[in-house]
Amino acid sequence: MPAAAQGPAKALLKALPPDIVATDPTEIAPHLLDWRGQKRGVADGLVRPRTTAEVVALVKAARAHGAALVPQGGNTGLVGGSVPEAVSTRPTILVSMQRMARIRLVDSAGLALVAEAGAILAHVHEAARAAGTMFPLSLGAKGSATIGGLVSTNAGGTQVLRHGTMRNLVLGLEAVLPDGTILNQLTALRKDTAGYDIKQLLIGAEGTLGIVTAAALRLVPAPAVSAVAWVGVCDLAAALALLARLRQLVGERVESFELVPDDGLALVLAHLPGARAPLAHPAPLNCLIELTDADAGAPLADRLAAVLADALQAGELLDATVAGSVAQAEALWALRENLPIAEKADGPSLKNDVAVAVADVPAFDAAARAALARAFPGARPLVFGHLGDGNLHWNIRPPQGADSAAWLATHGAAARRLLHDTVVAFGGTISAEHGIGTTKASELARLGDPGRLLAMRAIKAALDPQNIMNPGKLLV
Ligand code: FAD
Repeated sequence: MPAAAQGPAKALLKALPPDIVATDPTEIAPHLLDWRGQKRGVADGLVRPRTTAEVVALVKAARAHGAALVPQGGNTGLVGGSVPEAVSTRPTILVSMQRMARIRLVDSAGLALVAEAGAILAHVHEAARAAGTMFPLSLGAKGSATIGGLVSTNAGGTQVLRHGTMRNLVLGLEAVLPDGTILNQLTALRKDTAGYDIKQLLIGAEGTLGIVTAAALRLVPAPAVSAVAWVGVCDLAAALALLARLRQLVGERVESFELVPDDGLALVLAHLPGARAPLAHPAPLNCLIELTDADAGAPLADRLAAVLADALQAGELLDATVAGSVAQAEALWALRENLPIAEKADGPSLKNDVAVAVADVPAFDAAARAALARAFPGARPLVFGHLGDGNLHWNIRPPQGADSAAWLATHGAAARRLLHDTVVAFGGTISAEHGIGTTKASELARLGDPGRLLAMRAIKAALDPQNIMNPGKLLV
């Protein structure tokens, strides 16, 4: 249960407009549990600012009272960054940005959209679509994840292959820095070389360098045609051969290239009402492919069918189906997007988010499987995700029949270290898109590049000497 506000926390909250403050434990409680239901924290109060000026007042009050601020958007983060710690030696305030949810501007000619931090991704998609454009970042949590959270985790998703992560999609940013100063870089400038690009520091900072209040986002012309296929392949090498073949023929029109293994598909079919297996004969691995083009006359479906026919002849694929309607395409996408939800429903597992160079994926995956099998016989990898980016959610489920919670408590940290050591041996990263939070903070300290960590710690100390912004996250 949240602690009742007292002492410095009470004084801090009193300095704010009463209608943005909540201290009722039942109101605060839902904000204190992470999406996986695996981490619960405590807070002395919940503040829901409506304006940037109220965020400034909050940050200044936190400084004055030595409090910690934990920013939160949709609370869909997967690394424990959006909830406070269970034990804190100082007042802790949870800052929900959900009330700052306006879409301030959609500029279809300039291909830019300005949204406040609490705007939900699905709403941003709708606003962009209504203007004949697209915001090209999507992920399974799009109905809850907010722009502030996406910026702060440098989120990726299913279109990184073509459009990049949030880092590539943020044109400008407004944020409140840890001393209460407003960083006003909320412009849609395509060029600006007047010094350091400070907004990039806030992207992926996980709330440790300030509170993002709004972002100017890059839009692209809405695709006029798309073609979606579900393809069964026998292994990762065959999947990557298919990706190369696709790129040769349609170039940058490959919007998504996602991996769903047979055991992942089985989980979704078991947990998603109405879901149907897309292929007559199950394949060990499946690729979900989407091609798009802004030119309504582009013969995408024909080209996709031609590539798949060639790949079949070359022995690269086992079976494939091409969506014949928007509804069919959505049904295929639902199989991919519901995989994290089905996995959660299936029980606890060790969630990972690693990336290696695309060409290294098959060798890395084989090495990681061999290392896991040697050290933890019976542990079950569930490997899915953004294959086209080399980014795999290389999750580990406890052995069949084991007490999952007990297995993870005993072996989880060592299994994760083993995986991360293998990733590092392949020159990869331990966090491709989810961030570090608390879950991977000790791993970043263990494996991060010393030069990068030194610079990160120096930046944190310079901007936030009192460590008021999301302490205990990212850097330990
Ligand atoms: P939160 O979870 O509330 O916060 C995340 C972090 O950002 C925390 O450290 C928090 O303190 C900080 N933060 C939030 N708002 C602000 C702000 N305004 N200012 C400063 N700091 C802030 N992620 C991907 O990248 N790709 C995926 O494909 C993907 N798929 C997912 C699928 C599912 C089903 C789920 C549940 C999650 C998935 N995620 C994915 C993870 C998650 O959706 C993203 O990390 C998302 O960016 C979090 O947004 P949020 O608003 O929920 O942020």
